[in-house]
This record gives sequence, C-alpha cells and structure tokens, in this order.
Amino acid sequence: MKKILKTKLPELWQKIDADFDLFLPIEKNKTLNFSLWKEGEKVNLDRVRTNASPKHLVFPQTETYLKFKNENKKLSLEVVEAEGDEYVLFGVRPCDVKSFKLLDNIFLRDPVDTYYKVHRDRGIIISLGCSNPEDTCFCTSFGVEAASAPEGADIAAWDMGDSFLWKTQSEKGQKLMESVEEFFTDAHEKDLKTLEHEKDNIREKLKELPFSNIDLSKIKGTQQEIFDQEEIWNEFSEKCLACGTCSYLCPTCHCYDLCDYKGSNKGEKFRCWDSCMSSDFTLMAHGNPRTSQMQRLRQRFMHKLVYYPKNHEGVYSCVGCGRCADRCPVHIDIVKIIKKLGGEKNEL
Ligand code: SF4
Ligand code: SF4
Repeated sequence: MKKILKTKLPELWQKIDADFDLFLPIEKNKTLNFSLWKEGEKVNLDRVRTNASPKHLVFPQTETYLKFKNENKKLSLEVVEAEGDEYVLFGVRPCDVKSFKLLDNIFLRDPVDTYYKVHRDRGIIISLGCSNPEDTCFCTSFGVEAASAPEGADIAAWDMGDSFLWKTQSEKGQKLMESVEEFFTDAHEKDLKTLEHEKDNIREKLKELPFSNIDLSKIKGTQQEIFDQEEIWNEFSEKCLACGTCSYLCPTCHCYDLCDYKGSNKGEKFRCWDSCMSSDFTLMAHGNPRTSQMQRLRQRFMHKLVYYPKNHEGVYSCVGCGRCADRCPVHIDIVKIIKKLGGEKNEL
C-alpha cells in the first residue's frame, strides 16, 4: 500500500498527463463530469457522484466505423479504427467500476466488439472509496461495496483526509505506480489501521441512507408474471416524458443505433447512443415492436431486473449509483419500481 499527500496531487497529474490522457472528475458550471484534465481545471474529488458515468470512455457517444466516397461513379470504403490514446481514469467510484464489468459482459462476449475492446484495453482505472455517499446512493442493494477495493480497478484509492492511500491490483496498475513512484511513500501500520476505521465509517454511513433497505427478493413471480403487471407499468409510464435522461446517464445502459450520414458524394456509418425509452428505438422496416411508452418503460426495467440477471448468473444490470433517482425530471427511478414490484404502496 502506498501513500501520497494531497499537496503532491498537482505534480502527480502533470506527470501522468505527460504519458497518458488523464480523466478526472472536473467541475464546470457546477456540473461534475469525468473530463480530460489540463492545468487549472477544477478537480473535485469530494463529491461522490458525477453527473454522467464514465462509460463514454469505453463506449463513446458517437463513433464512426466506416467512411465512404463516390468519385466518378467509383465507390470507395475506408474502415475507421477506434481512436484515442492510452488513458488514466482516476476517481471512479466502486459502483461505476462494477458497471464496466457489466458492459464487458455485453461487448466482450463472442463476437467481441473490437471498438469497445480497444477503448477498454487502453484504460487504467483508479477507483476511489466513497467517504461521503449521497442520499440517493443504494449500491449495497446491488452487491457493490463502496468502502472496498473493487474488482476491476487497476488501482484502488481511499481519501484519508490530507492524503490518499493507493493499492495496486493489476499489472497495468503496477506499471503506472512504478512510473510515479517519486510522489509516494510506503503506508505505515498506523495508516492501514486508519484505513480500516475509514472503511467502517463508510459502511455505517451506507446503512443510514434512505434507500439502504431496498429488498430485491420481494419481487416475486415468474418473468411472465412480472411482465404482466400492467397496472404498475402503466402507472409509471403515464408520467414518463421519454426524454432518455435515465438511459444516457446510467452507467450500465448500452443501447445504440447504427446510422448512415450521407453528403453529396461521401458519407459515414456510425453508431450513437440510443435509449429503449425512445419511440423510434428498434424501429424497423415493418414498424416498431413496442408501440407504447408503457412497453418501452417496461422493457428498460425488465431488462435491468429480470432479463439481464437471467442471462448473467443472477447479476442485475444496475449498480445502484442513484443517477436516475437524482436526475429523472418526473421522479421515476428504479428504486420506486423495485418497491412497487415488491408490493410496497409507495407514491409516485
Ligand atoms: S428520465 Fe424519467 S422521464 Fe426521462 S425517459 Fe427516463 S423515466 Fe422517462
Ligand atoms: S438504473 Fe439508475 S441507479 Fe441503476 S445503474 Fe442505472 S442510473 Fe444507476
């Protein structure tokens, strides 16, 4: 375990930035997002939740696959490789670290999405324990331990007040650590004891959160029975604006559309994020298989709570980050859905 004083962070950022693209939680106009660091940026490592998750680094919002040109009636095609340099992503909370694993289950299974793989392999992920979880966090319900060193992080870090403790967990993490060794000292026995106290504090705080008592086991019934609870799905979908905010901010949502952009004699094929909440999602030549907002909203939550776990050994496609609870303009969120499906009479 290594220790770095917070006063050394600006130098550390500079050193990492010399060799990698460095992404940090950066505040602009009071909004916190993972952005490319440069000198003078306002880094905020205190607030736990960024507005959007860091999924755009492995699954960009838009990405071109192919360019085509028609010159003198001769068509030429150019395959576009995945772009981007090696990067370090620091300050990823354990829920978002887990979301990368859930995305891996989709994009790295056969046939592997080579664009996603390139972005994933280029990244070094450094997690940060959640010293101050937000009121709308409920990661523990989905098996995320916000105090721990999460599986999937190349380095795990914790905020110790005037310093950070770093624990390397992979070869990539070790290599990075060796390149910045000059800024670190070895952690002492006392630091390790303080870290255990800090982890206990985090666990206590998580227990006190308003959504800490969500019980997924209360959702009873077969897939078909849950699907058929139309009264519940209608109740939520009547309020839904189909804005897609929940999908775009969610770290585990991964739907995309494939589109062609065509100019007079050239064009591109690209993919871009899409949302199953949108009325033209999965629109095909014969029409759309889901014709109402009820069907679309039901699809989103059936996927997260029923279909994904059925296909992935019981793991849910939600990490309890709380972004949907925080940002849906009409206050629809997965917590209310879980409670309703579990038989609770919560008000929308
Ligand atoms: S953020 Fe809310 S209103 Fe917008 S699509 Fe999602 S559930 Fe519907
Ligand atoms: S469904 Fe909501 S709480 Fe769950 S991972 Fe997505 S945004 Fe976070």
